Amino acid sequence: MNRKVIIIGSGPAGLTAALYSARANLKPLVFEGNQPGGQLTITTDVENYPGFPDGILGPELMDLFRKQAQRFGAECYFKHVTKVDLTKKPFKVWVGSDEYSSDAIIIATGASAKMLGLKNEKELMGFGVSACATCDGFFFKEKKVIVVGGGDSAMEEANYLTKFASEVVIVHRRDSFRASKVMIDRVSKNPKVKVIWDVVMRDIIGSKEKGVNAVVLENLKNKMIFEEACDGVFMAIGHKPNTDLFKGVIDSDSLGYLKTINSSTATNIDGVFACGDVQDNVYRQAITAAGSGCMSAIDVERFLEET
Ligand code: NAP
Repeated sequence: MNRKVIIIGSGPAGLTAALYSARANLKPLVFEGNQPGGQLTITTDVENYPGFPDGILGPELMDLFRKQAQRFGAECYFKHVTKVDLTKKPFKVWVGSDEYSSDAIIIATGASAKMLGLKNEKELMGFGVSACATCDGFFFKEKKVIVVGGGDSAMEEANYLTKFASEVVIVHRRDSFRASKVMIDRVSKNPKVKVIWDVVMRDIIGSKEKGVNAVVLENLKNKMIFEEACDGVFMAIGHKPNTDLFKGVIDSDSLGYLKTINSSTATNIDGVFACGDVQDNVYRQAITAAGSGCMSAIDVERFLEET
């Protein structure tokens, strides 16, 4: 059955697009992907989403988003899209060998955590190395952990990890953080957090059997290389947009974020729209993602009326 609109992704952008397009009677089909609910499902308290003065847990917020979209008829599949054909209409979307088609597509695939590119980082992922304190912090009770990065994510991860760890060391490549003042203040008041400035991580020492024992750091100012003992490493160095499915078809900027036209969510392909973190390298907030998800549903509605 050909659909009016297929939405790929289920973070605040995808599920808001689902809510608005469902209410416009477009009967959206949402492919939720491997991380239903998106990045907020691997965070704890969301304190900056308007309407929740006491904060709300990320996974709980995304469950509410989904329920609200489903209430108006959005169909949400816990499936990961493996291939798309956006070169002709109707557009085609595959999940393995299952084929789906639609007159319009909304891309809301979000962004994923960046990694340093160290060999052991990959090998020890899940064995002492992590990119999600909320998911893995629990395993580091009374242990010493390292957080890499100097942005809000690093501050948030460091602060959260102090609930479990005996000591949290932030390692940062410069001598000042780019994080917001309120986040820096929270971390600097936390007695369990220490910072090592001006260093890059060159290696992670450990094994799958024994986990992480230490990291190798290089001081960029005096070029000294030294080991810092620890039991775990959390990467918090930013994100990259999830655009593999659309490479060479949808225009992107120099950082790989999908380009949208003027102040709309339209991409270079008529009928294909993009919203949320996959097209936003500037604001990257749940509320801005939700706002652009709403815009994309309205853009789809207008596109379908005109065609
Ligand atoms: P970010 O702001 O891009 O910060 C990334 C950090 O990682 C920077 O300090 C950067 O260093 C460092 N870094 C990047 N690549 C590195 C590498 N290869 N080696 C070593 N260090 C590296 O990313 P983010 O912290 O994930 O935040 C993204 C956005 O989400 C921001 O707008 C932020 O405000 C928002 N956010 C908000 C909250 C909240 O309000 N609760 C929580 C998390 C994130 P440099 O500083 O030297 O570039």
